[in-house]
Amino acid sequence: MNELLKKTATEQSRALKNKEISAVELTQAAFERINSVEDKIGAFNSLTQETAMETAKKVDEKIAKGEDLPLLAGIPLALKDNMNLVGSKTTASSKILENFVSPFNSTVAQKLLDNFVPIVGKANLDEFAMGSSNENSAFGKVHNPWDLNKVPGGSSGGSAASVSSCEATLALGSDTGGSIRLPASFCGIVGMKPTYGRVSRYGLIAFASSLDQIGPFARSVEDAANLLEVISGHDPKDSTSLNMPVEHYADFLKNDIKGRKVGVIKELITEGNMPEVQKAIENAIETYKKLGCEIKEVSLKNLKYSIGIYYILATAECSSNLARFDGVRYGYRCSNPENLMDMYTRTRAEGFGPEVKRRIMLGTYALSAGYYDAYYKKAQQMRALVTQEFLEAFKEVDVLISPTCPNTAFELGAKSSDPLAMYLTDIATISCNLAGLPGMSVPAGFDNSGMPIGLQILAPQMQETRLFNFAYQFEQANDFYTKLADI
Ligand code: GLN
Repeated sequence: MNELLKKTATEQSRALKNKEISAVELTQAAFERINSVEDKIGAFNSLTQETAMETAKKVDEKIAKGEDLPLLAGIPLALKDNMNLVGSKTTASSKILENFVSPFNSTVAQKLLDNFVPIVGKANLDEFAMGSSNENSAFGKVHNPWDLNKVPGGSSGGSAASVSSCEATLALGSDTGGSIRLPASFCGIVGMKPTYGRVSRYGLIAFASSLDQIGPFARSVEDAANLLEVISGHDPKDSTSLNMPVEHYADFLKNDIKGRKVGVIKELITEGNMPEVQKAIENAIETYKKLGCEIKEVSLKNLKYSIGIYYILATAECSSNLARFDGVRYGYRCSNPENLMDMYTRTRAEGFGPEVKRRIMLGTYALSAGYYDAYYKKAQQMRALVTQEFLEAFKEVDVLISPTCPNTAFELGAKSSDPLAMYLTDIATISCNLAGLPGMSVPAGFDNSGMPIGLQILAPQMQETRLFNFAYQFEQANDFYTKLADI
């Protein structure tokens, strides 16, 4: 593999500007890497080599003319396959969209193209982003680059695995209940979910619209900060996008955090955590102490309800969002339907996988007459309480920390037959989405078998500068992020 692929985007940008390598050569090297490891990893549903090479050529033309390069120009990136990119299929890893060709660019894809970022392919995911292990994909499982018998985490498993294995330097994922942070943690990289509304969701296939948010994967906090800057901003095409200025997040990384307060979430430091995860958190606490921070234990009493709340709200929203996949306008249609009802029912029965069907049924039930008040309304009320509890906590501390997950990556198949065990994987990540907070996972150590552990850091809404600042300080005080999977 070309050694430059192992470097961060910042280092690769420098190499491009110094003409140590051309953008075409760098993108070509990424494809060579993909060709050599992809059959072991399965990170991509499709490759977009033509588009990527075209973009890289434009970067080289700019360099030749001596023009300034936009942030991240020429840096190979993987796009989760639930975001539209013209010239590619957008399948959401579902049979129902197997042959669906993107009719327009998602806003994030457009921003990447405007910044001349070569998009190398569409990354595998759990079907419609529903899952925590990437085993719910209709197009094959993704393997964790640190141990090919283990899951990469989900739902953005392909995005995380591609960055972790140096097939791409950057990736985008979507996070509804942890789908960026969990795979980042399992694959030993940085993953960040921005404040709800910070990044436009236009052109992202909706799962649960009040929770979904697009965010960056990278191998360093600085790269993640730069990628967020590229994709953020107000978008009239997404009514939930925030009309607030985009900051140059990287400017805040080196701010001194001496005297600031770090809250440790009591409910997530439990005996249920793997001992090595517990140790990693103790190390994180020590690191922040050494950086001059004050550590406070913070109790979030409603956190234990977050999975219950989420699985009512997310399923309710998905049952409504996925109603559009009916064989009329999009994707798959069953063959030889007898009548319209037969067409609807068989198309959906044949097109959706088992987890997606489970969610549609749960959500339809929660929204049905007679149950709406008992489930959906109650969950909305509890969501408000969870949000309130965070607001109170952030009066006391600047950021909150916890493990991203109580355990490290598990064996493929270990939880496939037990949906509840799978749902519990997200205990630490879900409440952040309920409250619309920015959150990230940063490499924080390894378990006894060498699998990565992630530290989760949460900040108040629109405080991404603070989040990146605390994440960078932790990252630079340790060397976990410099370790790469040996594949
Ligand atoms: N694992 C959670 C779920 O299956 C979260 C998924 C996500 O964030 N997209 O719903």
